[in-house]
Amino acid sequence: MLLIPCPWCGERHESEFTYGGDASPVAPVGEQEHKTSKWYAYVYERDNPAGLLHELWHHSFGCGRWIRLARDTRTNAFINDEESTP
Ligand SMILES: [Zn+2]
Repeated sequence: MLLIPCPWCGERHESEFTYGGDASPVAPVGEQEHKTSKWYAYVYERDNPAGLLHELWHHSFGCGRWIRLARDTRTNAFINDEESTP
């Protein structure tokens, strides 16, 4: 069981959330052609680190907000992240 700390609702069960994926990729700027390797990497390629990973979570069955959290993938512990919302 994973308890996810929503900044607005407090710790909630993972079943209330939808995983939004890795929050670190940034869309290429100025790329006119969407079939470039930069777009391919942005859409499909993800690291699978053993350690800190910044993730997006949607509190689907709670406040309905998107949140950004840092999680240690080795322990599933959520880390206090200065970049997290709010
Ligand atoms: Zn919430």
